[in-house]
Amino acid sequence: MWTDLPAPVTEALERLNAQGYQGFLVGGCVRDLLRGVPPTDYDMTTSATPEEVKKLFSDKNVVETGVRHGTVTVFSRGMPLEITTFRTDGSYSDGRHPDGVTFASTIEEDLARRDFTVNAMAWNPRKGLADPFGGREDLQKRLIRCVGEPSRRFDEDALRILRGVRFASVLGFAIEENTSRAIHAQTPLLAKVSIERISAELAKLLCGAGAADVLTAFRDLVAFLLPELPEVSLDTRLQALASVPREPALRLAVLLADLPPHEAGKLLRRLRMENKLSLQVTALIREQRTLLTCTDTPCLLRLFRKFPPELAEALLTLTEALHGTSMAQMRGRVESLLASSPCLSVAQLAVGGKELMELGIPAGEKMGEALQMLLEGVTDGKWENSREALLSAAKSWHSVC
Ligand code: ATP
Ligand code: MG
Repeated sequence: MWTDLPAPVTEALERLNAQGYQGFLVGGCVRDLLRGVPPTDYDMTTSATPEEVKKLFSDKNVVETGVRHGTVTVFSRGMPLEITTFRTDGSYSDGRHPDGVTFASTIEEDLARRDFTVNAMAWNPRKGLADPFGGREDLQKRLIRCVGEPSRRFDEDALRILRGVRFASVLGFAIEENTSRAIHAQTPLLAKVSIERISAELAKLLCGAGAADVLTAFRDLVAFLLPELPEVSLDTRLQALASVPREPALRLAVLLADLPPHEAGKLLRRLRMENKLSLQVTALIREQRTLLTCTDTPCLLRLFRKFPPELAEALLTLTEALHGTSMAQMRGRVESLLASSPCLSVAQLAVGGKELMELGIPAGEKMGEALQMLLEGVTDGKWENSREALLSAAKSWHSVC
């Protein structure tokens, strides 16, 4: 576990420790290494000041990512290493950010400012594991537990409330009793956290392996963050999260399925979710029932004229999860229909605006109407998607319009 660290990581630790400083791996990477999961990034903490770190790594590309907070990023053979000076955070008067940062002299002080015991461990090759709060034991017990007194830690920084629930969901851990009690009691402090931070945490939380159970246990937090959701169906929706894959569009569609599509869109805009994701979620919600009643090919073609075919599988999965009906047969039909490259957009018609203009149809709104009419005729089976058939249909349409 500690033997196959990437070379830039061991070299940086060695360089710090050889110069008389202390240097440790810390936080998420130590937690993940102990769980046997490859870390996403390697953060380090050191007794060296940011100036000393910059000098020590002056042969490398060093970026001052947060010198005020004691952080510099060293790029070693392309690998970014965030190196932060040991610190304590002092007081927090806004419930979100420390008023000031004080550099500390021991690893223990630095670990004490961290949020959860499983995130408050550090390691280096000389000293081994520094684990003053029992993080390793909590990792074995699969528990999220605050470092120190939970209610004080959440008063200091309310984002920790949501981070705790997110780690429980993503890691599939339970939340220790005192920490859990404080989360329930202090949920309203989340009003101090920016909507961007809330959305980022919520997106990760919803896609966690344990999302259904964790969010059911903290339904008060869900109701606080998303008061738009109807309360009567909340438990059912939260449990249904487990029956769809861990993808943001599907998980959000399940959660928001009881809202009218435009209300869901409004909520996603309030959360500042990416536009593409919002469009996918609202399209899924709008069409969640369509496949239950589509019995013929023209009906499916009408659906895919306005619904992105690349979301077909997601729609089948969502329909199954929300309405408890097997879509096995429908899945086969949809797959073979889409594999036959049907004509689903005006761009795929065998005639274009230029040819219709030659028939006397003016460019602009009228042309849009004509193309739409031709497309609908093709998908409804009234005529074929061939030049002759379309020109003749356009001619008779133009003569009566
Ligand atoms: P992830 O896998 O999501 O990156 P992580 O544990 O690395 O998990 P980060 O947000 O990258 O989480 O933070 C790195 C470390 O900094 C955490 O492990 C924790 O020790 C500490 N930390 C981060 N945010 C806070 C906070 N709000 N309060 C206290 N400590 C925090
Ligand atoms: Mg991290």
